[in-house]
This record gives sequence, structure tokens and C-alpha cells, in this order.
Amino acid sequence: MPPQLKESIRKALLTWYSRHQRDLPWRATHDPYHILISEIMLQQTQVERVRQYYQKFLKKFPTLRKLAQAPLDEVLKAWEGLGYYARARHLHRAAQIVLRDYGGEIPQSREELLKLPGIGRYTAGAIVSIAFGQDEPVVDANVRRVLSRLFAIRQAQTHRELEELARKLLPPGQAGLFNQALMDLGATICVARRPKCLICPLAKLCEAQRLGIQSELPVRPHARAKPHYDVAVGIIWKGDKILITKRPDEGLLGGLWEFPGGKRQLNESLEDCVRREIFEEVNVRVRDLRHFMTVRHGYSHFTVTLYVFWGYYAGGRPRCQECTAWAWVRPSDLPRYAFPSANQKIIAKLFDALDKSAVNSRSRARNAKE
Ligand code: SF4
Repeated sequence: MPPQLKESIRKALLTWYSRHQRDLPWRATHDPYHILISEIMLQQTQVERVRQYYQKFLKKFPTLRKLAQAPLDEVLKAWEGLGYYARARHLHRAAQIVLRDYGGEIPQSREELLKLPGIGRYTAGAIVSIAFGQDEPVVDANVRRVLSRLFAIRQAQTHRELEELARKLLPPGQAGLFNQALMDLGATICVARRPKCLICPLAKLCEAQRLGIQSELPVRPHARAKPHYDVAVGIIWKGDKILITKRPDEGLLGGLWEFPGGKRQLNESLEDCVRREIFEEVNVRVRDLRHFMTVRHGYSHFTVTLYVFWGYYAGGRPRCQECTAWAWVRPSDLPRYAFPSANQKIIAKLFDALDKSAVNSRSRARNAKE
């Protein structure tokens, strides 16, 4: 990850958080016992529901010792209505272990915390970063959504893979704040349906927003039965003409014309993919690529997302290497060629853009005359 991008994300998120953080009772403390209670309660439970229980629970069991020494029935009674009662039993047991094995002090190491019942990687990360100021990441559903969109991650990621990505973003010494900021952004702005990109502090840095694929992310491991491919193609201009290529006669969409490009390789940027594919396909180098549109398309056995870039010819004598023909054509000639339907969507938007730009240049010319 480029250091400048990392810095920009940190700065934008922390500045936003300093003004917009949610007012939650467990945010006002660094007491590890209080953080432990809030994080266990927050597992699979809405914040508003936890609000109703958190302070009442702490009033009844103000210290870890009191909790450990209380009968389980009392703990369950205080938990009544909050659901997932295994959490209350585990919490009670964990308090007894901490009292017996750690002298009543909640361990400061993530590894030690993970040995306690009911504490997983998320809860351990939250406790050590928020209560003990350690540079440890947390990944919950909100953080997963924000990271997947921010970096436009199309492959399903394991918890640990996302944790490593989150770790790279952490500002040293401010992990607790940064983790909470990511969680708040996911809970209030980068929400599952209709993310509020217009007011998002990360909008300018967000790859999913740039590509218009927010609603498709995060990808869930079992959400898609068909394989999916990311394909990047170019509308490459030379003067007033555009480069098109013809597919081999055999196979899928055989003999049809298309905008040149191809499948993105793992860890390859979309721009690099356009440059590489066009060079491999037709021996043409391109420059000044910018994202033009994104098209989703389903075939019988797979789906594709076509990322379309606008760019310019930069050299190379066209020669078919992975196509059967190539041509430089004026946009007005495009309807004479047979294109697959995904490419038709590109042509429609291209005409639209050219119409708008013709209108703009006519009005500029009129303004200049006046
Ligand atoms: S710009 Fe939109 S998709 Fe990207 S992080 Fe912000 S809210 Fe989420």
C-alpha cells in the first residue's frame, strides 16, 4: 500500500471521527473490565440494545471480582433479554479464570485473552487496542465492509487476511481510536445498503466508489455460485478513431468485435491490466487511462464486471496476436460491426458522452462568439 494513501486514509478517518463519533457509554472509559463487558455484549447484538444493559450490568457487578464471585444464576438474570446466553456463561467463567490465574487483572496480551472462554480475535483486538493502547487491528462486519469497499476487494477474504490489511492501516499509538473510527464509519456511513458515499470522509480514496461497485461488496464466500471475472478494456483513441478487435471465430462470442482488453490478473491494477492486455492482444501501447464506466454482465456459466477505461494510442504497429482482426473506426461506424451485448452498453454510453461533449463545445463556441 503506498505510504501516501495510508496516510490520507488515517488522516481523513481520524478527523471525521473526532467530529462524528457516536456517543456511547463505553467510549468514555479505558477500564479493561468495562471494555470487556461492552465488547462481549456487542457480539451479534445491536448497539441500542446493549445501551439498555451495559450500565445496569455494571451497577450490579461493578468489578471483575464481584462478577466472578456472583452465582451464575444472578449473572444470567442480569443478562435476561439480551440473548445468546452462552456469552453470559463464558463471561462469568472468564472472570473466574482471570481472578484465579491473573490475580484479577485482565491480561494485556492478545494471546492470553484468546485463551479465555468467549473471547475471539475481534474481542481480544478490541480490548488490547482500546483498553491497553496496543497497535492491534479489529475486524468485525462493519470493518470488513469498509475495507472491502475502500480497496475494492472482489475475492472473499478470510478474517486473518482482512486483519493483516487493517494492521497495515493502523496509525502507531492510535489503534484504539482508529479501530473505533472504522467501526463507526461502517455503522453509520458505509452501511450495507445504500452507503452514504456523498458524505463519506473516504470517498476520494475509495476504489469501490470510483468504480461504482459499492453495492457488490463485500463478497461473501458462498454468495456466488458462478465464477466471476474482472475484465478491463479500453476505448483507445487515435485522432478521431477508436481501436476495436475481432475475437477468434471459435469459442464464446466467436467472431464478434469488441473493445480490446482482458481478464485482470491477481493483484494487478485495472490500468495495468488494460495496458498489458492491449499490448498482448494487438501490440499497441496506450497512455492516459481514466475510468469511464463499469458494466456488469452475466453469461450462462459465469459473470463478468467490465471496467472500461478511456485512453489514447501511445505507439506500436497494430498486429493481431490474440485476435483475428483489428481496426481503427470512427464512433459513427461502430453500429456497422457486430458487438456482444456487454459492449453494446459501452457503445451507448460512449455516444451519450460524445453527444454531451459536442453540445458543450457548441455552447463554448457560442459563448466565445458572444
Ligand atoms: S465512499 Fe462509499 S463505499 Fe467507499 S468507504 Fe465511503 S461510504 Fe463506503
